[in-house]
Amino acid sequence: MDEGAPGSQATFLAAVSQAREYVRAALTSPDRAAQALADAVAAVVEAPATVAVLAQGRLVRVASSAGSAGEVGDVVEVDSTVCGEALISGRAVRVEDVSLVPGTTDASACCPGAKAALSVPLVEGTRTVGVLAAAAGTPGWFDPMDERALTLIGQVAAPRLAELSITGPSPAVPPIHPASPPVHPGGLPGAGSGSQARTPAFGVPAPVTADPDHDEVLRNGLDALLAGPAAPGLGVFVCRPGVAEMTWSQELHRIVGVDPRTFRPDRQACRALVHPDDLPVADRLMAAVYAAFAEGRDLGLAETLRVIGADGAVRHLQLWVVSSTDEAGCLLHGAVVDVTRQARDRLLLERLSATDPVTGLGNRLAFDRRMHELLAAPGSPEVSLLLLDLDRFKLVNDSLGHQVGDRLLAEVARRLNAVVPEGSVTARMGGDEFVVVPPAGYDRLHARRLAQALVDTLRAPYRMPESGEVLVCPASLGMTATAERDVTADELLSEADLALYRAKDAGRDRYVVYDDALRARARSRHHAELLLRSALEQGRLRLQYQPIVGFENGRIVGAEALVRVLDPTGDRLLPPDTFIDVAEDTGLVVELDLWVIGAAVAQIAQWRSSTSTPEIVPWVAVNVSARSMEHPRVVRRLLDGMAEYRIAPDHLKVELTERSFLATLPDGESTLRQLLASGVRVGIDDFGTGYSAMAYLNRFDLDFMKIDRSFVAKVGQEARADAVVTAIVDLAHAHGMQVTAEGVETQRQARRLREIGCDFAQGYHFGRPMDPHRLLPV
Ligand code: C2E
Ligand code: CA
Ligand code: CA
Repeated sequence: MDEGAPGSQATFLAAVSQAREYVRAALTSPDRAAQALADAVAAVVEAPATVAVLAQGRLVRVASSAGSAGEVGDVVEVDSTVCGEALISGRAVRVEDVSLVPGTTDASACCPGAKAALSVPLVEGTRTVGVLAAAAGTPGWFDPMDERALTLIGQVAAPRLAELSITGPSPAVPPIHPASPPVHPGGLPGAGSGSQARTPAFGVPAPVTADPDHDEVLRNGLDALLAGPAAPGLGVFVCRPGVAEMTWSQELHRIVGVDPRTFRPDRQACRALVHPDDLPVADRLMAAVYAAFAEGRDLGLAETLRVIGADGAVRHLQLWVVSSTDEAGCLLHGAVVDVTRQARDRLLLERLSATDPVTGLGNRLAFDRRMHELLAAPGSPEVSLLLLDLDRFKLVNDSLGHQVGDRLLAEVARRLNAVVPEGSVTARMGGDEFVVVPPAGYDRLHARRLAQALVDTLRAPYRMPESGEVLVCPASLGMTATAERDVTADELLSEADLALYRAKDAGRDRYVVYDDALRARARSRHHAELLLRSALEQGRLRLQYQPIVGFENGRIVGAEALVRVLDPTGDRLLPPDTFIDVAEDTGLVVELDLWVIGAAVAQIAQWRSSTSTPEIVPWVAVNVSARSMEHPRVVRRLLDGMAEYRIAPDHLKVELTERSFLATLPDGESTLRQLLASGVRVGIDDFGTGYSAMAYLNRFDLDFMKIDRSFVAKVGQEARADAVVTAIVDLAHAHGMQVTAEGVETQRQARRLREIGCDFAQGYHFGRPMDPHRLLPV
């Protein structure tokens, strides 16, 4: 890249350092620093910027760049804004398209019409003192460089701005007094602050005592609170039962948001302030008060309520009511603390805890909550679940790095959001797995269309903004629905997972709907797994041996050991195609191969010991799967077995499929080398079925190659098949390998294979897999 070109990194960094100088120079007074900062940021990111500091626990805008809509002195509501997220998380937050991030809708609070938002916390020592924010009307306006720039500038400016937040900003700011000292939004107040206000006496639901002195003290205190200068954040009221109007302290008026000159705090007026959703709470409170009066009981109640002030703002109030008695009769005292901030912080934290930081989508928690809601709904309507997995994400991540990987994930999220219907929940379940839950009642036909649309949108190539690089990373999707069944979220998820697997199997970049066939398949696989486990435990594995004939003399020279499961009733041998796949997938194949090796070695020993002519005993080839090759245990078992039964290495052969051979590298390479070093001959099975191991064959001293029966089938019938087999045989011989033809079923095939130069043949023509005593009756 041309270093000096506009927009290049060098130009950019120069602009940032200029801005930093600008800020440094302006740091003569905190107020000017703030303005300079806002202007500098605006210049660097080319978008309206604003600086807000924390004053007494609230974010207050202290400066805005020209063109920024926010007024200096505004209180910035942190709830659901990008500012709030930066403040609480303590790190930069960049949102590419505000309107697409569920919940984070409120960047327009900083700048009307904002689409993209960027906010970094201003950190002084361990304290967050404010935020630096910018908003732009174009989605995706800010990039990681902007983020870095803001962070850099923020670092320079934070110490000076910290003074602003301590002294409180300009008088335009409404006096706000929270109940407790300003709380660091990320946690507790600094331990060394030492200025902890004492919890007011009314802050605890005081046990009502009959001690007259105590009451006196209480009442004096109350009078002081009612009449004197406001205790910041604590509102109090008194009333007598039967008297229509209560007495409110100044501070209580302010907390609730009503004008003390016009507001008359009687019962009706108070009830009218309560948030409609909280009226039941308010009425319950009232009822309890009246009941206590009627019964002459003392009272101590605590409740949280929301009210809506004359300004229309919702406030969360913590309320305590206690009663006492004086010479004039019963007296009711109340204390009110504004806990709006805490309540909002809690909400924000809750939302953050359900948000995936990389994509801004929901996370597993958000998904769980949503499913809980949907499935718990009475008469629950149809719920669909779409599970997506990127097909080549690992490749991107491994080859281009995590940063590119994260960007890709964010872009995937953006595309998903653009396609899903209103009211959907889209979550990242971890890694490159996403889930979409359309709104309840979304029917299956629409869900299918959605599945197709999602797969389509992810098929389009991605252009990485920084490098201009083009990536292709399609996805597979599995889908399921409740379909009037009583299913749990976990069950739905595992169904979608099965369908997803199926989609991958079927070639990726597509969707598959979970159905009965899949269910049946899953069940039969589960059944196969149980069967195999019980066979391993109960000793119901058997080996059959299929003869291998040498073309040289037409005699049986070897045999392949082929495993079977004796079914639980004991009258049928089940072939490997009913359990080998499951064995591979579950890892049980390692146990299986260990057993086969032990049994084969014992069989060779038995044959050899029961004959006077051991040279007629065939060598035995065992199949070892890729997963077993990764276990040093398997090779050790083989070597131990040979030693124990005094079997020479040339009595055994090991067949590795091409696929398992490749999978063996590089992790299992040492195992393979160990095996070869022992003198056991190793060969390639099913040669020609897809994977080309040829390039690797030279690296190892392999003994033989088995030509897959799909090639053998047409030999002697089709010239092309003859040519292919001839080529393979020549190739093998050129590498010093012997060749076995598999699946030889006819005389004709046998003859032709012999002419071509194969060394061995195996197939029904010579003999099916059979019990050992039938192969060699000794
Ligand atoms: P494979 O290693 O290619 O074994 C040869 C398969 O072809 C055997 O099926 C055998 O019965 C069959 N076959 C032999 N001659 C003919 C023929 O002339 N015509 C036809 N149509 N088929 C013939 P089988 O016994 O069902 O084994 C299937 C596969 O299961 C094996 O294929 C092998 O991959 C796997 N397998 C068998 N035993 C073991 C084992 O002990 N360990 C592992 N890991 N896999 C095994
Ligand atoms: Ca084999
Ligand atoms: Ca084979």
